[in-house]
Amino acid sequence: MKHAFDPKHLHIHAFAHAAGQLAGEETLAHFERLLEVVDDKATQTPVHYSASGELRSNPERGETAAQVWLHLSGKTLLPLVCQRCLEPVDVVVEFARDFRFVANEALAAVEDEASEEDVLVLSKDFNLLELVEDELLLATPLVPKHPVCPQPLKLQVADADFVDTDANKPHPFSVLEQLKHKP
Ligand SMILES: [Zn+2]
Repeated sequence: MKHAFDPKHLHIHAFAHAAGQLAGEETLAHFERLLEVVDDKATQTPVHYSASGELRSNPERGETAAQVWLHLSGKTLLPLVCQRCLEPVDVVVEFARDFRFVANEALAAVEDEASEEDVLVLSKDFNLLELVEDELLLATPLVPKHPVCPQPLKLQVADADFVDTDANKPHPFSVLEQLKHKP
């Protein structure tokens, strides 16, 4: 029997029980939080994802009942800005992670601490794409850079104006001192 699983409304236990497979592609337009970190012209950029469900028991870990697992991967090419030369740079952002699902929030909090895998709470209406977005955001470099910048860098220290402006600036610690004394 074939199950049609909806990535936005996934019954996690049923997906694992059926050893379900889901793979697909959505445009970046569906991922609001990712759109915030890229150029807004990038809405048609494809985001690929692939998921599989599994029921697995591991008596060595003292598990008596089969555990619900989800194996998820995702990949996209984000148009970011190089923080060295401030020119556009396309960065491949990808992840592959295993998740284990437990019955409730309290269990998840305790077991997430003790486990290598991420532990989430079982849901009958799970938004897989939201998890893909979470993981892609985590995988996005905070300071994107070209491996080698296309333009030679302008050396700011050689700029006399730059040095002058800098000398006139208050020392950062003195600014902090002032803040501390403010009522
Ligand atoms: Zn660069």
